[in-house]
Amino acid sequence: MSETHLLSNKNTDQNFASLMINDSEVDKKPNGKSIVLAIESSCDETAVAVVQGGSKVLSSEIASQTEMHKIYGGVVPEIASRKHIEVVEGLTSVALQNAGISRNDIDAVAVTFAPGLIGALLVGLNYAKGIALSLNVPLIPVHHIRAHIASNYLVHEGLKPPFIGLVASGGHTLLLAVDDYTEYRVIGSTRDDAAGEAFDKAARALGFGYPGGSVLDKLSSDGSFDAYPLPRAKVDGNPYDMSFSGLKTAIINLIHNSKQKGIEIDIPGLAASICMAVSDTIVPRAVAACKEYNYSKLCVAGGVSANSVLRSELYRQTTEANIELFVPPISLCGDNAAMIGSQAYFEWMSGNIADMGLNAFATLPADYDHQFISK
Ligand code: ADP
Ligand code: MG
Repeated sequence: MSETHLLSNKNTDQNFASLMINDSEVDKKPNGKSIVLAIESSCDETAVAVVQGGSKVLSSEIASQTEMHKIYGGVVPEIASRKHIEVVEGLTSVALQNAGISRNDIDAVAVTFAPGLIGALLVGLNYAKGIALSLNVPLIPVHHIRAHIASNYLVHEGLKPPFIGLVASGGHTLLLAVDDYTEYRVIGSTRDDAAGEAFDKAARALGFGYPGGSVLDKLSSDGSFDAYPLPRAKVDGNPYDMSFSGLKTAIINLIHNSKQKGIEIDIPGLAASICMAVSDTIVPRAVAACKEYNYSKLCVAGGVSANSVLRSELYRQTTEANIELFVPPISLCGDNAAMIGSQAYFEWMSGNIADMGLNAFATLPADYDHQFISK
């Protein structure tokens, strides 16, 4: 972990450290009845959920800021933080009400502490600290990428590690070996842009606004996958690493050149070609990782995993390779707090509990050292 990851409130850590949750509370382990209040604010969705026993979602509320950021063509961090502040308290009240519980029923508070927009993360983190402290219950730090994977535990009863995890979203695209609920090993990731970034910038250049993945997905159903030849990058050094910046640039150049020359763009064809280029970059690597590292299950998550072409290619190629495939329903692909509540159960079980000195991190690998942040 480099110092640059620490956008710190370090000088206040000592003051906070004296505001500790009672040790007897911290030493408790969760059970099937344990109720976790989960908070997510890493990007442009404020989300609050109440999850029981790691898999029963009692409520899951999402306040999306997408409309607000749309006019800028992407997320504006300062606006995101301010909006989180405005809605987090009200959304928590709604989540508790819809779960049919009161604050006193909460056994632990979970929060996304990394990775994400630092200002946005700090809003959820400080709010979660306040509730945990006032209720004298454990504060559970949850890594956003691990939580995406955990969205599968909410719907696939009996699913357990070990498996290969694939997370593809607006900010991340990576492959992980998941050996236990809190044992992760990154085996490949994008060296530059995430897959969702290529979708979003392509949609923006075509005038479809932000975020654009689902629009291009819908359009692709009327297009031909080989309407446009788009690059599938290979990265030197690690066969599981990926790159999407070349694809993004190729799409933007293609759109600009066509406009300048007055050539009409086959939009469904371009959308289908983009979906297949992303799929061709991700799916064979995920399948090869399962084979090489000897895992029989592949567990997929993240906003881009809603893509219909990616899903059908995953299904086709894993069936051929005799790998069991797990994907979340579309409603759990993007950011939500139910997945935070699910992963929190396993973090809590492993003793990964934080004190009031917990900080937020803009970047932090999913296989971070727990000692680094745990009590
Ligand atoms: P992050 O956590 O990185 O903010 P999310 O998990 O919320 O990202 O996913 C958002 C991303 O998913 C956006 O880039 C969006 O365009 C993309 N996305 C959503 N639905 C689809 C889809 N059907 N096809 C492709 N991309 C999609
Ligand atoms: Mg996400």
